[in-house]
Amino acid sequence: MIGNCALCGTNASLINSHFMPASLYQELLDPSGPIKQMIVLKKDQTHQSSEQFSMPLLCQACGVRFQKGGENWMGNRYRSDGSFPLRDMLVGATPIETKPDGSNVYAARQVLGVDVEQLIYFAASLFWRAGVADWKVKFADAPKIDIDPSLMTALQQYLLALSPFPSQASIFVAVDATTAPWRAMWSPIKQNDRPQLRYSLYIPGIIMELGVDLPPALRVPSISDATEIIVLSDVVYKYVAAIGASLSEGSALSKSLARHFPSGRS
Ligand SMILES: [Zn+2]
Repeated sequence: MIGNCALCGTNASLINSHFMPASLYQELLDPSGPIKQMIVLKKDQTHQSSEQFSMPLLCQACGVRFQKGGENWMGNRYRSDGSFPLRDMLVGATPIETKPDGSNVYAARQVLGVDVEQLIYFAASLFWRAGVADWKVKFADAPKIDIDPSLMTALQQYLLALSPFPSQASIFVAVDATTAPWRAMWSPIKQNDRPQLRYSLYIPGIIMELGVDLPPALRVPSISDATEIIVLSDVVYKYVAAIGASLSEGSALSKSLARHFPSGRS
């Protein structure tokens, strides 16, 4: 399909672009268990589906830009085979602080193997994708989230390498400290309104947040601000469990599937 690339604006042949990276979906399955297809949880229903959010959105060059900018790097940092390299990198490093709840705080650039730029770019590209289009498949939809137009433009310029990461935005990255993170995801959602405007997303083992116009004190634990912080915490696991429980409450989960859900029902 010929059209204007949503990122660079070039009139070109558009590729079938993914919302959440294609490599992510295989991480959601359990080939040796009963989960052969993704399970789509909604407030009122549950489906099994292998459909992935995709649409003609980007030109070939911008597709490659996203792959090289963060997708390829991130794709090897969480795995369905039980390994979780990003977690292991943090476990092997020395935190700059341990919080009372057991969370470890790291200066991301000092952690061997962590690529700060790739993490920020990856997160920014996902939040931008969520703000630029309505994504829809048969059993699920992810309506466009309302990111301020001026920030969308700033993110676009950053993703095109035309300007630095937007100064009004902050990216936060928290990695699950447990060895087997929830094999789940949610595409970017608005989590909090101003004055603490935040959007969040989850991919297996990693919560990412985009904060907007946050006061300086709240920007400190971000990876995109001067401190370049990344957090390792089992709070991530509990948080995802709580979200899953709240979503699956209204869903008619079959008994055999229910035990795989964070709510722990069986
Ligand atoms: Zn393009």
